[in-house]
Amino acid sequence: MAIDFSSKFSENAMMMRASEIRELLKLTNKPGVISFAGGLPDPAIFPVEEIREIAEDVILKKSVSALQYSSTEGLPELREAISKRFHGGKVSPENIFMSTGSQEGLDILGKVLIDPGDNIIVSEPTYLGAITAFKAYRPNFITVPMDSDGMKVDVLEKELESVYSKGQSVKFLYTIPSYHNPYGSTMPLERRKKLVKLAEEYELILVEDDPYRELKYVEEDIPKIVDLAPERTVYMSTFSKIMAPSMRLGWNIAPDGLYQKMIICKQSVDLCSSALTQYLALEFIEEGYLEPHIAKIQKSYGHKKDVMLESLERYFPEGTKWTRPKGGMFLWVTLDGNINTRKMFPLALEHNIAYVIGGAFYPNGGGDDAMRLNFSFSTPDVIKEGVKRLAEVIAKELNAEPVSTPVLK
Ligand code: PMP
Repeated sequence: MAIDFSSKFSENAMMMRASEIRELLKLTNKPGVISFAGGLPDPAIFPVEEIREIAEDVILKKSVSALQYSSTEGLPELREAISKRFHGGKVSPENIFMSTGSQEGLDILGKVLIDPGDNIIVSEPTYLGAITAFKAYRPNFITVPMDSDGMKVDVLEKELESVYSKGQSVKFLYTIPSYHNPYGSTMPLERRKKLVKLAEEYELILVEDDPYRELKYVEEDIPKIVDLAPERTVYMSTFSKIMAPSMRLGWNIAPDGLYQKMIICKQSVDLCSSALTQYLALEFIEEGYLEPHIAKIQKSYGHKKDVMLESLERYFPEGTKWTRPKGGMFLWVTLDGNINTRKMFPLALEHNIAYVIGGAFYPNGGGDDAMRLNFSFSTPDVIKEGVKRLAEVIAKELNAEPVSTPVLK
């Protein structure tokens, strides 16, 4: 007789649900659909030739270690190169460990820090992958709204006062301060400082998720939170956007004390990350391929972002608002009035256009008037056509019967 496995799942496993985005993305695979839904880099600018060359070199010259298990922390040479290239040598390689994408870093963090019922703070909206990673450990999500400068720290302050006045505490605060996914905002220095001040006052751990930092389309270099508060910040970034997602290679910085626990946890998850892709990343940096590739991404995505903004301006109805990102891969659109983006999704698919519904990025519900649009994947012409189609869908929906909103009593 077949076993009823669902009756045997752990409580944590019961909290794991199929990601809404993944389910919706499956629907967007049909031919002819223009998808602004996925968070994919543009495959047309993958550094194919560079990777072919260094892969050959690594296999020929370093196969003994590249095909072997590496240490859990990762290759010392790569951690040194990361410290130098991305952190100006300010971070000790001893506080850096490699992970299998930064997604693994998020899971490890949840495993190490969250007990069921613990308060954690995230922005609203926030990265869906962080919601799913943390949710498995059953925290209580406290959400703080955003504006074009990121998480609203004045609201955060009130929220903290309220939580601590009830005798409760907060385990950590998760933030994506630069070129936010999904919102597209960047937190200015003053707000970062205020955030750090609050974290000091309430003894919070800060988690800075920073995969888009190099994908900037303006000249700016706002200090990282980890540079402002190294003693309390866990920092994460990744080679997914600056080389290729299939590297499955991220890096994490954690202060002493927490670092060691995260390493022990990683040991039980996957022993180590792939030595092969670690060597590829190292060679990519050392052979001088990283800088021109980043420059290429900045030029290409920066242009596509402008095309999307111009198209929104041209086609979208009055009353629609959107963020104007200075980097990253996404922007956030808020629709007027009665439109519910979840309900509108089938109509959009009928018109061969896809987006991610805003609600997917709200751990406690909400966001139904919003959507996330990706501008890195499609070509400029496809972006124009896609925005036009989406505008037509919205116009149709606006003429439709208004969605009746339940009266709150
Ligand atoms: N954090 C954020 C904010 C992301 O957008 C992503 C990828 N979409 C990740 C983490 C995970 O990236 P990786 O490919 O390194 O696992």
